[in-house]
Amino acid sequence: MATTHKTRMLIIGSGPAGLSAAIYGARAGMEPIVVQGLQPGGQLTITTDVENYPGFREVIQGPWLMQEMQAQAEHVGTRMMWDTITSVDLSGEKFTAQGDSGDVYEGDTLVIATGAQARWLGVPGEQELSGKGVSACATCDGFFYRGKKVVVIGGGNTAVEEALYLTNHSEDVTLIHRRDSLRAEKILQDRLFAHPKINVVWNKRVDSFLGGGEGGGLRALKLIDTVTGEESEIETEGAFVAIGHAPATELFKGQLAMDDTGYLLVEPGTPKTDVPGVFACGDVMDHVYRQAITAAGTGCMAALDAERFLAEKEFAEAAKVEA
Ligand SMILES: Cc1cc2nc3c(=O)[nH]c(=O)nc-3n(C[C@H](O)[C@H](O)[C@H](O)COP(=O)(O)OP(=O)(O)OC[C@H]3O[C@@H](n4cnc5c(N)ncnc54)[C@H](O)[C@@H]3O)c2cc1C
Repeated sequence: MATTHKTRMLIIGSGPAGLSAAIYGARAGMEPIVVQGLQPGGQLTITTDVENYPGFREVIQGPWLMQEMQAQAEHVGTRMMWDTITSVDLSGEKFTAQGDSGDVYEGDTLVIATGAQARWLGVPGEQELSGKGVSACATCDGFFYRGKKVVVIGGGNTAVEEALYLTNHSEDVTLIHRRDSLRAEKILQDRLFAHPKINVVWNKRVDSFLGGGEGGGLRALKLIDTVTGEESEIETEGAFVAIGHAPATELFKGQLAMDDTGYLLVEPGTPKTDVPGVFACGDVMDHVYRQAITAAGTGCMAALDAERFLAEKEFAEAAKVEA
């Protein structure tokens, strides 16, 4: 039978943002509920080595880090729900969310931590070699390709930024784009074209990622010329797919302000959305940094602001009753 679960803090999403909000919310007595969604633990569960999350001298594994975060959240009193939200109603005094299971979740405050998924090319070899030479995040994985030849696929701001960032680690960075011009901002293009370590390959689409490299990893990319149809290969040990991200905000369309790419808009420097009592944290509101530590940081901010929001509301209500 369908159940209604009530909480002072409803959290949608169980990545670093959602679980950090849960830890802070639980410790503030908010008795949070986290609805985990289809990817419990979030994006870090699909990677292996994580070397930039503070507190760990040695390389740690993404799935292990997320298990620990969940255990910590549960230890301080978070209720984890194995469910996916299919619709929300943010118009009332309480915020309600309908679960795929049939259950309903009702929060006095709502923290949205649904993340943003990297867009992939969807070509052969990409999934199989993900984490073994194929990545969607230069900031996360660039360090592992120190001194190696790397390629970046894409033509927008992200691709150019990733290529420029990778020059910190590699002497040989190739940007591959399927057209003959970039969409990136002019200033970024100027920096790219002036960079001695970056070479641009125009009019080529990636047909497939080829394994057989060191340790069974990536060896090369098979390319097709978009003008002549000619096939070629480019050898590389690291390929960064940089064709954008898709924030998981479909649920909130028409109810919360978002930018034209679907990222939730928040009051600058805060996790506050345009609906009082609804907070957004992590990658779903951040198209710039997109890191586990920034997601955790904004998760903390969302929980602290949610606690303050309720405290102020309850104080005002009590004052009204007294008067
Ligand atoms: C391959 C890879 C490697 C990475 N490596 C690193 C790294 O080394 N270091 C680093 O700092 N960052 C790394 N990142 C980036 C990092 O994983 C993200 O920045 C971080 O996970 C964002 O956290 P988040 O909590 O905002 O969202 P996510 O981790 O994306 O979590 C989103 C959560 O929302 C849930 N959700 C979505 N929709 C619904 C719904 N309708 N109902 C309920 N739940 C829902 C999902 O199930 C998931 O639990 C990597 C990313 C990838 C893809």
